[in-house]
Amino acid sequence: MKVGILGGGQLARMIALAGYPLGLNFIFLDPSVSACATTLGRHLHGDYHDEYLLAELAKRADVVTYEFENVPANVAEFLAARTQVYPSPKALQIAQDRLLEKEFLNELGIPTASYATVDSWESLQSAMETIGYPAILKTRTQGYDGRGQSVLKSAADLKASWQKLNGLPSIAEGFVNFNREVSIVAVRSVSGELAFYPLSENVHRGGILRLSESRENDVMQAKAEDYATRLMTALEYVGVLALELFEVDGELVANEFAPRVHNSGHWTIEGAETSQFENHLRAILDLSLGSTAAIGKVAMVNFIGGKPESEQVLKIQNAHLHLYAKASRKGRKVAHATVHAATTEELEPLKKRLIMLANDVDDS
Ligand code: AMP
Repeated sequence: MKVGILGGGQLARMIALAGYPLGLNFIFLDPSVSACATTLGRHLHGDYHDEYLLAELAKRADVVTYEFENVPANVAEFLAARTQVYPSPKALQIAQDRLLEKEFLNELGIPTASYATVDSWESLQSAMETIGYPAILKTRTQGYDGRGQSVLKSAADLKASWQKLNGLPSIAEGFVNFNREVSIVAVRSVSGELAFYPLSENVHRGGILRLSESRENDVMQAKAEDYATRLMTALEYVGVLALELFEVDGELVANEFAPRVHNSGHWTIEGAETSQFENHLRAILDLSLGSTAAIGKVAMVNFIGGKPESEQVLKIQNAHLHLYAKASRKGRKVAHATVHAATTEELEPLKKRLIMLANDVDDS
């Protein structure tokens, strides 16, 4: 079986690494010559809009998936007309537009921050009258890792934030005073089998994920599973989906969902019976899903902007290093490491050592 992946970055690379034991082969479409997954399969090198390459991908792959949600709708539909594409173009279309996403979540009874559309200076002013300060202004599309966002603390910030938007269609969002951020990584197969990983508790800085920890038997697990189920059922979703949530005084408020494997699920590679990457492949190939149970307590730390000496990580007990084979660049995720232990007390000092290494290389 050959799996086609739109995108050849680290997520595609980790999907391929999980697929080799299952006897799968891979083909990637990515415009970058140095895309880090492409040493693991055939590389169709070119633009995502190139119909010749898209047709080639559809012809050579038994099933196509992707590692990012900003796939243009016409590209996903072009592929879906020629081969199986999972998740569906509809899931992509909703997840890539913050306005459609919020409307869809609310229709399903999943709470979000208050929000309003912003497409002119006047609409920004009236949005702020309804939402109030503080708020966050986000472009509707193409935003990830905090890009295309600015915080509005008071009316004094309005002009500068509006100019930063460059006229792009946006939304203003009420600032959520959360107690913590969590995400649920869920998976649904072609046959409709569902599985959920234990919640990930996440720490972001500058809009970028820094740390994720597995939280087995969390009080919010059932609620998060309910929301993820509503989403996946409504979308007839196939594959892994990550729903990012804020916990506010015992309630969950959805931030966004990613129709793909997710950074907050990287801990599942060594920290769960079956990784999110393997379960994504099992789901899209309609194989039985693997157990999502966590193995002990797990923490995952991202290395952003640079990576430590491998030895510094490897000498930490139960630490596993994942280098993405990407050149270091400001704000770029170039590696992560996972550490696990039987108890939280044992995990804590190991986790702290990883965080120190990450802070040393962090350039943001
Ligand atoms: P996003 O790009 O929407 O995933 O946002 C990245 C990070 O910015 C989130 O994980 C939060 O830490 C923070 N953030 C985004 N939206 C809000 C909000 N409405 N209220 C508070 N923090 C937010």
